[in-house]
Amino acid sequence: MLERVLFTGDVVYNGVGLPLENAGVLVAKESSIDPGTVIVFGKLEDLRSQYPDARVEHLGRAILPAPVNAHTHLDLSHVPFKAAPYTPWIGYVISRRELRGLAAAKHGLELLRAANTSIFGDIVARAEVMPFLLAAEGFSGVAYWEVLGANPDQADQIFADTTALIREWRKLERPNGVRVGLSPHTAHTVSSVLMKKLVAFARLEGIPLQIHIAESPAELEMFQTGSGALAQSITRAFDIPLEQIFGRQPGFDLTCVSHLEQLGVLDAKPTLIHGVNVVETDVQMIARAGCTVVTCPRSNRNLECGVLPWQLYAKYGVEVALGTDSVASGESLNIADEALAALEIHGSSLGWRNIVRYASRGGYKALGMKTPTVHRGDSFSSLSVWK
Ligand SMILES: [Zn+2]
Repeated sequence: MLERVLFTGDVVYNGVGLPLENAGVLVAKESSIDPGTVIVFGKLEDLRSQYPDARVEHLGRAILPAPVNAHTHLDLSHVPFKAAPYTPWIGYVISRRELRGLAAAKHGLELLRAANTSIFGDIVARAEVMPFLLAAEGFSGVAYWEVLGANPDQADQIFADTTALIREWRKLERPNGVRVGLSPHTAHTVSSVLMKKLVAFARLEGIPLQIHIAESPAELEMFQTGSGALAQSITRAFDIPLEQIFGRQPGFDLTCVSHLEQLGVLDAKPTLIHGVNVVETDVQMIARAGCTVVTCPRSNRNLECGVLPWQLYAKYGVEVALGTDSVASGESLNIADEALAALEIHGSSLGWRNIVRYASRGGYKALGMKTPTVHRGDSFSSLSVWK
């Protein structure tokens, strides 16, 4: 016998526009094991008055399209979590480089599976990890090959090596599986010469990009004054002055974002990771270019990087996605945990509706994928539930 059930959640989202608060989705079920067929989405009070005979069942915090973890470093999944300021934290990870690799990435993928996430954007720093992710059954998204190279003298060689790898890996892509992407790490670990070459290549070949930007407050200080903890650490690590990496002197008119804009990088619409320590003109440039920003609130808190100025991004209509970063800074790879932490870190001003959109529609945009929208006649099983 057909039964009408009104599934409710604190927030309900069918993938179109903004999620609804105190809402529900009415489904028709043929039996107790039938997940049900969607009839209509709506505000709870409207649905209750229109369908007074429907049984109401509250499912939890959110009903949404399959959520996306838009930024991970799966190959760091064996590096224990540590909270520390950004610059010493980078040193902590570098000193544990032997823990990175395929075994850690396999563990990370299992953590994603256990968290019911099948769509991810991962930064791949070890070559053996890429074929593994491209073959991962039941997953989709993008595996971005990470490139570092601050010395412009090495740009040609690194570029040649990178393009050869990417071309080989692209042959392993499968329909609806994980795609190959490219991640020039960030504007202070990739010379301006190499950055331009990599981005031009990605644009020409239609390869998705992720770039870390404006993560730590020391980064803004470095671009503007050429000094501070990060500037010292970078010049020591790469044994090269900043002006050779940037292709210009640091200056008060310079930020990570304005630097990328001047290099023409934003024209390729890279997905930008973090974007915490930005000024308003940075956000205007990001909006003009149509880039999506991925926020990792727990990682930003644990590395003392600050809080995403989400109001600024909202003011200019920039789409925001949600990512966990690695377990080493973000604690877990569970995007539902990240969503709850986002609510706690930002307080009620950001609100659950925005966060649910970040974790779904924002995530798909960040990875260059179409958001799956759910309509009348679709199976309720195509939606996810956060209890
Ligand atoms: Zn990252």
